[in-house]
Amino acid sequence: MKEAEEKPVKAGGRLCCICNKRRAALKRPKTLEQICRECFYEVFEEEIHHVIVENQLFKPGERIAIGASGGKDSTVLACVLSELNRRHNYGLDLFLLSVDEGITGYRDDSLETVKRNEIQYGLRLKIVSYKDLYGWTMDEIVKTIGLKNNCTFCGVFRRQALDRGAALLKVDKLATGHNADDIAETVLLNILRGDIARLSRCTSIITGEDGPIPRCKPFKYTYEKEIMFTYAYFKRLDYFSTECIYSPNAYRGFARGFIKDLERIRPRAILDIIQSGENFRISTSTKMPEQGTCERCGYISSQKWCKACVLLEGLNRGLPKLGIGRSRGLNNDSPMRRLSFCELQGPSLNAHCNGEVMEVIASPSLLEGERKEAQEQLHTVLCDDGDLALERQIVGIEVPNPRPPRGHVGSERSEKP
Ligand code: SF4
Repeated sequence: MKEAEEKPVKAGGRLCCICNKRRAALKRPKTLEQICRECFYEVFEEEIHHVIVENQLFKPGERIAIGASGGKDSTVLACVLSELNRRHNYGLDLFLLSVDEGITGYRDDSLETVKRNEIQYGLRLKIVSYKDLYGWTMDEIVKTIGLKNNCTFCGVFRRQALDRGAALLKVDKLATGHNADDIAETVLLNILRGDIARLSRCTSIITGEDGPIPRCKPFKYTYEKEIMFTYAYFKRLDYFSTECIYSPNAYRGFARGFIKDLERIRPRAILDIIQSGENFRISTSTKMPEQGTCERCGYISSQKWCKACVLLEGLNRGLPKLGIGRSRGLNNDSPMRRLSFCELQGPSLNAHCNGEVMEVIASPSLLEGERKEAQEQLHTVLCDDGDLALERQIVGIEVPNPRPPRGHVGSERSEKP
């Protein structure tokens, strides 16, 4: 995402409040302390060291992949982890792992930055691409689906691509550059979307311990301003700061703007939102998804097919909307076989199964032509199960005329790059 060029806030002519010798060069965004550069580098790096030790993020001898996009967070992470690994003898074998989504004019340029980081920090680099893994580049996907929902495809594919790259590198863990601002933003987004499953795990500093490759966030308590406008700026690190050409992300952008406004009034707000997220207790009656594996590719999934396989199937069949939103899409094994009827409910086409209503295709506004397409998609999904009786049942469905929309906003999901 593009960042406004901003310089660290100068601290005037005072002495550094830590060493009391050198002139203060900046006011820390997180604590508002006035300190010199040397003391800032030290407290910044040692705070991250403290987070790593306190949360036991790494064990000696582990192989760790750093998710590297060429952006400010992952570049600072590569720089700081290399330094701490040397200084505190972590005994880690560090790698850079990048994903090439196939976005011309954006990712190709940022990967050049990662290649320079490979030399600058002496870390081996592995690049995995969407084209190799899925047969599609983001350029091709956007040509097919347009600029709506593109980040859903990209986010789902990236998550899996990183796991696949990590497996190729045979690493024990993946460290990502998610910072405190990102996590606060995600807490807020999950509340706004009512996504309890994600809310319960988005503040965890280590996730996926029951999955193929655990992930950790050493910057969980590190402010974006300190990473970019202070550390990266003073150290003159080589990072890439251009916005993705396909970035709409209006909803996430709103949450981000709101958090930045709060931070201006009260810098601690970011940490307080994270703490609130940590302290949420999920009601025992809330049904959480059960984790299994995708029948098609073997990746972890709470459904019959993982989200990436559903999205890919839609793309390959020329039905790219399959799997968008809160869709069961192709994951319809037993409930769909008991489907009784489907109907247009406001802007969505709903399937009714044994009293449970499942939103099959969520869209902000299903227009006349889209209703037909939606019905065909549902038809295709159901026919794929080879249930001919069901096929006859569905073909005979009369879709009522749409009622006026009731302000339903569908199930927009955009992923942070
Ligand atoms: Fe992918 Fe991020 Fe670009 Fe969306 S904004 S297409 S998630 S890189």
